[in-house]
Amino acid sequence: MKERYPRLEINLASLKHNVATVVEKCGSYGIQIAGVIKGATGLPEVAKQFDEGGAAFIASSRLEQIEDAKNAGIEKPMMLIRVPMLSEISEVIRLCDISLNSELEVIKALNDEARVQGKLHKVILMADLGDLREGWWDWDELTDVAEYIENKMINIQLVGVATNLGCYGSIEPTVDKLEDLVKLAEKIEARIGRELEYIGGGATTSLLRVWDGNVPARINLLRVGEGIILARDLQNFFGYDMSMLKQDVFRMKAEVIEVKNKPSHPVGTISIDAFGHRPTYVDRGIRRRALLGIGKVDYGSPDDLCPMEKGIEVLGASSDHTIIDVENAEKDWKVGDVMEFDVCYANLVYLSNCRNVNIVFV
Ligand SMILES: *Cc1c(COP(=O)(O)O)cnc(C)c1O
Repeated sequence: MKERYPRLEINLASLKHNVATVVEKCGSYGIQIAGVIKGATGLPEVAKQFDEGGAAFIASSRLEQIEDAKNAGIEKPMMLIRVPMLSEISEVIRLCDISLNSELEVIKALNDEARVQGKLHKVILMADLGDLREGWWDWDELTDVAEYIENKMINIQLVGVATNLGCYGSIEPTVDKLEDLVKLAEKIEARIGRELEYIGGGATTSLLRVWDGNVPARINLLRVGEGIILARDLQNFFGYDMSMLKQDVFRMKAEVIEVKNKPSHPVGTISIDAFGHRPTYVDRGIRRRALLGIGKVDYGSPDDLCPMEKGIEVLGASSDHTIIDVENAEKDWKVGDVMEFDVCYANLVYLSNCRNVNIVFV
């Protein structure tokens, strides 16, 4: 049988190696890892590598991914990392052991539902330290909520405080920010009269502090996805040596459907492209180009793709086609050949969630 393209190949052994390496390195600082599976759409095979590699929790922003992980037989505690919607409360209690929260109204609903289902649900309260996505901005308000949960709620257990950085506001998890989080935890602890079990210092970007060896001692939980599955990101964006991690977890492969010499500048009156934009084009004369049977619908933005082939250049794409300049390619590209690309996080969230893309485990 012919192999089907386009495909996303996932190297499970490399993924497990990366999970185990990050778990061990963080473990040496007393930090547990919540393995975040949403980057690869929570594919159960991916979730299993997080489990077997030693993550303390399996975490996702999406309940259906958590449900799939449970159905795949994973018995680790499940963590919901997007603050819950009021419309999903009963599922949150049914599927998750622990959730991140930023609204008292939602936590009250969780408490009511946990009572109905006869469960004890754990919550971590989110503090916004400047990234400006989820979390309490006002520390006094957060501390009041913590006290309220501690004294008034029977089916909710307050287990910690955490923050999210490096998402909307692109804020770096500096030592100062993490120390602020510890101060906040201590303020809550003073109010409720006991220690919190978890202080969650962020996601992938907080690994930089682990690599620097300067994470404040009381930070003991990180929620990590990207830095494990796409190990090269911390190297590419921040210049850190990530050579102990495997960089070949994901490969996108697409088939060449046309090869021709054509002008590099469109011919005629230029108006708008397939996505309503008005792009500009450089005239480089007649060039040899290959067309691939894959497009933006499958991987998002063509600018994020990293070709593995020598001498090729991604020119652009529409929904279902990708245009590659092969004028200076080492290889003489022919119809039916397969081109290989490394992908970044933004490509991966589409590829792993796309019906057209054949997912293959290697
Ligand atoms: C997505 C997400 C993470 C994981 O982020 P990575 O960059 O993949 O490590 C952690 N926490 C929250 C709240 C998230 O939404």
